[in-house]
Amino acid sequence: LTASPTSPGLHIIHIAAEMAPVAKVGGLGDVVAGLSKALQNKGHLVEIVLPKYDCMQHDRVGDLRALDVAVESYFDGQLFKNKIWVGTVEGLPVYFIEPQHPAKFFWRGEFYGEHDDFKRFSFFSRAALELILQAGKKPDIIHCHDWQTAFVAPLYWDLYVHKGLDSARICFTCHNFEYQGTASASELVSCGLDVHQLNRPDRMQDNSAHDRVNPLKGAIVFSNIVTTVSPTYALEVRTAEGGHGLQATLNSQSRKFVGILNGIDTDTWDPRTDTFLKVQYGAADLQGKAENKEALRKHLKLSSAEARQPLVGCITRLVPQKGIHLIRHAIYRTAELGGQFVLLGSSPVSHIQREFEGIANHFQNNPHVRLILKYDEALSHTIYAASDMFIIPSIFEPCGLTQMIAMRYGSVPIVRKTGGLNDSVFDVDDDSVPLQFRNGFTFLTPDEQGVNRTLERAFDRYMKNSESWQQLVQKNMKIDFSWDSSASQYEELYVKSVSRARARTTHA
Ligand code: ADP
Repeated sequence: LTASPTSPGLHIIHIAAEMAPVAKVGGLGDVVAGLSKALQNKGHLVEIVLPKYDCMQHDRVGDLRALDVAVESYFDGQLFKNKIWVGTVEGLPVYFIEPQHPAKFFWRGEFYGEHDDFKRFSFFSRAALELILQAGKKPDIIHCHDWQTAFVAPLYWDLYVHKGLDSARICFTCHNFEYQGTASASELVSCGLDVHQLNRPDRMQDNSAHDRVNPLKGAIVFSNIVTTVSPTYALEVRTAEGGHGLQATLNSQSRKFVGILNGIDTDTWDPRTDTFLKVQYGAADLQGKAENKEALRKHLKLSSAEARQPLVGCITRLVPQKGIHLIRHAIYRTAELGGQFVLLGSSPVSHIQREFEGIANHFQNNPHVRLILKYDEALSHTIYAASDMFIIPSIFEPCGLTQMIAMRYGSVPIVRKTGGLNDSVFDVDDDSVPLQFRNGFTFLTPDEQGVNRTLERAFDRYMKNSESWQQLVQKNMKIDFSWDSSASQYEELYVKSVSRARARTTHA
């Protein structure tokens, strides 16, 4: 194991369950990679700790090798060895933990959704801290993400500070409050946490079931900094409607809780250099975009009869949060309005997957609608490039990245005004917003009429006013969605927290 070299900036270690492109299920993976890269560019030393999944994309890791030394970590009253792998992902140093535990926690052929996820990730959280301790690292910030690594916060303060890993402040980012990882209180014991101390209303006890612990709540209580991924979502989750039971906890911790809008990785998502595309293009060359539309139509055997027939794209996990019934409705309505629709999505919920397979079959021979029901990174790039419009009718949306990616590829977003969509998409007809910020089509009420009216407005403008449409596309493609300004906000929070802690030690 190697201690980290000294650096003039901060030493930041992210502990997470996902990182794009090696292990990505959704936005979390994009954020861990994008934020880390931006912080590294600002001169900080950034490292990432991930589980070594059997199903990760090993070929996207540079120079992957196992270290000679194993790290031992505690679980269920015993010590288990962990093989530690190191490599680089997108120019960032990453540690991969491979537990030598008989349950083969990360040899399951999938990232999440296993019956023992609580065990898998509480084991990982503890092993990650053990790695940092045994490597002699002295990070200024340990940044963990979502319930899977939420255990890090109580583990750090209750156990690791006493073992000598005491240099860090803990930052926790919640990417989605729907997923809290609650489990029977007794399960907490496995990773070495003290259930009697923690299963209390002001600590980790779930707010609605007193015999259950809630890792997400634990991270909110025990972290120095708590963030979520957009300012609007940060307000929504403090209410009974949006808080998924954690509103009281968030309100009591509001001084350390902020919403910072995610950026996108503008190297990965750049139509001028994107090698997944048939033709690269920029805002000054929309002919290139048209060629990508033509290429996708051919690839998916859609009609190419009318070049200007609007193509609506949608790329999403198919879960209730995303407004499944509204996505289904938008497919049928688009077809009725004379447009084309391409959906790329997959569902962890089998009845939803089956329902969409039914819709896919229904449109099998229709030259205007295609549903591709799987995860496919390469295809996702080509859909952003090919589509004229991009629909996101979410019921709630912590941040959402697809609207930003879509705009960068010249596809105009049609979204429900919620969470991060409300912070990044502004209606072209909204007079209360300065003209230069208006970039898409929005609706508030999540029902079929809302979708209809908004789709119709978008189609109308596209059909009747191609020049103003083109100006909108070009303006959107130039919006700065990079991580730069969001990473600066994280940097400011880190620096403030670190200097507060240092000031306290100096005065003590
Ligand atoms: P969430 O994190 O809720 O899934 P986000 O909008 O924050 O939603 O992030 C979604 C990310 O996952 C985007 O990068 C999007 O392109 C990608 N994505 C979603 N579904 C698929 C799919 N079926 N195939 C490829 N990429 C997908």
